[in-house]
Amino acid sequence: MATPTYHVAIVGAGVCGSAIARCLSAYKLDVVLLEKCTDVGFGVSKANSGIIHAGFHHQSHSLKARLEIQGNLMFEKLHHELGFPFRRVGILVVAFSQEQMKTVAHLYAQGLANGVEGLEICGAQRIHTLEPKLNPDAVGGLHAPSGGIIEPYRFVFALAECARNNGVEIITDFELTRATPVRGGYRLISRDGTEVSARYIVNAAGLYADTVSRILGAERFRIHPRKGEEYLLDRNAACYPGHVLFPVPAKNSKGILVIPTVEGTTMIGPTAHNINDKKDVSTTSDNLETVFTSAVHMVPLVSRRDIITAFAGIRPVLDTSDFFIAISTKARRVVQVAGIQSPGLTASPAIAELVKNLLKQAGLKLTEKRSFRARLEKVVTARSQTPETMARLADNDPRYANIVCRCETVSEAEIVEAIRKGHTTLDGIKFYTRAGMGRCQGGFCTYKILKILARETGKHISAFTKRGAGSYEVSGRLGEGQER
Ligand SMILES: Cc1cc2nc3c(=O)[nH]c(=O)nc-3n(C[C@H](O)[C@H](O)[C@H](O)COP(=O)(O)OP(=O)(O)OC[C@H]3O[C@@H](n4cnc5c(N)ncnc54)[C@H](O)[C@@H]3O)c2cc1C
Repeated sequence: MATPTYHVAIVGAGVCGSAIARCLSAYKLDVVLLEKCTDVGFGVSKANSGIIHAGFHHQSHSLKARLEIQGNLMFEKLHHELGFPFRRVGILVVAFSQEQMKTVAHLYAQGLANGVEGLEICGAQRIHTLEPKLNPDAVGGLHAPSGGIIEPYRFVFALAECARNNGVEIITDFELTRATPVRGGYRLISRDGTEVSARYIVNAAGLYADTVSRILGAERFRIHPRKGEEYLLDRNAACYPGHVLFPVPAKNSKGILVIPTVEGTTMIGPTAHNINDKKDVSTTSDNLETVFTSAVHMVPLVSRRDIITAFAGIRPVLDTSDFFIAISTKARRVVQVAGIQSPGLTASPAIAELVKNLLKQAGLKLTEKRSFRARLEKVVTARSQTPETMARLADNDPRYANIVCRCETVSEAEIVEAIRKGHTTLDGIKFYTRAGMGRCQGGFCTYKILKILARETGKHISAFTKRGAGSYEVSGRLGEGQER
């Protein structure tokens, strides 16, 4: 076989794969990002709490703790360059007894050892001043001002878009099922028989990193799925807090939180249950009860009436509980990025830097590219404009005057922009624009979006799916009838 086509193939376009792709796109390299779903970020990275953790939850010697702190510090620059929603609102760990204050003291000491800046142990008065919506029974806690919140899917989209602008090829609907070693690299074969070849492979396949590792003839390990259910509350909910609110942590998780999302809604959750099925994203009324009871204990204003939707994400957990990021000892051209459970979102930019250095260590030559463009064009959103600016925008482009999603104030111009950027499923458009994320959960805008999709792509309305193959929204006959 001839020399492999790509210098690097990254398997998995979640937040890790996309961050690695963007990082490598700054060098003179041919890079391909392979993703089994129809869009990027549709794996673990789309269903999480969106928190940029501060770095006090994990033991100093762990790889997680190191990359969490490094990643956290990189977000201002990334936000500035890529424009995804991000705010450093700060984190509070809330204690309800003197016994729990001992855990707070431990987290404080751990945070200091990890190098977290600005940590503060609060007494009752201080914590209630910082967060007036807290249960009056709270006796104190930990304040970490460096914690933040982001929109996770917008972050992944921005990373992937920037990587693509800088020459990375992104191939979606490519599920790696076979690989054969060839001289100087690997041939990678997808389920439908498409082939690419590359000199180095990065295994960033999230929940399926164990399968991909096996396919590549690298380490054998098992990824254990641990499910987390979360509940989203309306943007008008009175409970919206000023900080991310944690209880003192439980053994397997950081506990059930009350989270102010960066777009103004409130989220409560997640649960943490070990499960067997990596595809089980069901939610149950029992778990809603558990989440609701914990959340209302933290913030009494949390109301069941404000819940607009539920979802579950699945953490990819290794036996060690730490991240496994290393050059494979069995397959020297493979870099493993496995076991990336929380705080993987926070750590992802630091993971990308580490993987770049590991690839260099494995023999990849890195020469900086002068033409690298770190910045993305700013996305104009109708919901963040003043009426005067909206009027000006609509004068230039009447599609800004057509508000397609009324709950989240999303204009036709934004939907078209999402499609132009390659997001052609309903979920892709939802995650890019927020259309369908509000109180009515797409009840009013889904059909309008399908019609815009049909118009912009020239395809029949029945061709579009919620999230890719097998998730059709409209049956052929219904679509034809509605379209006329
Ligand atoms: C409920 C919950 C809450 C969380 N909250 C936070 C938080 O607040 N802050 C934080 O920092 N972290 C959080 N996390 C963790 C964070 O979401 C993950 O660490 C991170 O998203 C993992 O990203 P990834 O790129 O490794 O995996 P993924 O996003 O799953 O990406 C892997 C990709 O590989 C693809 N793939 C798999 N197999 C193949 C194949 N054979 N061929 C091609 N492609 C393949 C998948 O489709 C997927 O898109 C949370 C996780 C959960 C579940």
